[in-house]
Amino acid sequence: MRLDDEAESQNVEDRRGGGFGGGGFPIGGKSIGIGTIVIALAASYFFGIDPSLIFQGASVIQGQPQQAPQSQAHRPPATDQLTVFTRKVLGNTERTWEHIFETDLNRRYAPPTLVLFSGATPTACGTGQSAMGPFYCPGDQKVYIDLAFYDELRKRFGASGDFAQAYVIAHEIGHHVQNLLGVSAKVDAARRRMGEAQANQLSVRMELQADCLAGVWAATAQKANQALLEAGDVEEGLKAAAAIGDDRLQRQAQGYVVPEAFTHGTSEQRVRWLRQGLTTGDIRKCDTFAAKKL
Ligand SMILES: [Zn+2]
Repeated sequence: MRLDDEAESQNVEDRRGGGFGGGGFPIGGKSIGIGTIVIALAASYFFGIDPSLIFQGASVIQGQPQQAPQSQAHRPPATDQLTVFTRKVLGNTERTWEHIFETDLNRRYAPPTLVLFSGATPTACGTGQSAMGPFYCPGDQKVYIDLAFYDELRKRFGASGDFAQAYVIAHEIGHHVQNLLGVSAKVDAARRRMGEAQANQLSVRMELQADCLAGVWAATAQKANQALLEAGDVEEGLKAAAAIGDDRLQRQAQGYVVPEAFTHGTSEQRVRWLRQGLTTGDIRKCDTFAAKKL
């Protein structure tokens, strides 16, 4: 990706301790070996989880946000490459979704906040933990990412490259778009009336739609700036999508696959829907809920 000319987002909240302006976020940090836990949780919760799946408590979504940690306001913003990259990609998603909302939906886009944290952090959906992977909380409209996840993505799942990283952000922003459009609320309500297997199927459609929306973002951003994506970028994104399919993760974690427990879709499905968004650049082509074949 070429992000030289991209303006950085102002909507990043840095809750990482230490590292004044530096690159320091603990990887595999002092408290937990994130890798082990990620693998343990991978099968069910990995990557852009629907928080209601994780935080099984009833009042989770409506709950009051817990007190956020001491603001980092007087600290200069971190300037390490990965943080700057994250701010730029987020900035691009803001401009791109603003444009899509205006032209396709005749609505205004309200951008989410992206929270950088390490270890654990309070959210309106309960305590967010690195081991859950990046996620979006509809209750406070924030995306939560521990950037150490990108090491996991590369080392354990063989998905490297800047566009693979951008896809992770774009997928979470996709959940924010779903929230703004009322999809999340409908799905949550429907899931509460269902048995687990059915609820999981609905989660899969939700997740695949977020993948498709990530593709729509990239396609639209590319249209606005032809230089944004470079050769190999799309392949990187598709490879990342394949790496985090439920079937592959389950096989890695437990050696066998339980389709009823899928919450995000198979590798093949994730690739297909990301590609659908990438090739059409049209949110109307992301109706995974109406699709006969996922
Ligand atoms: Zn997701």
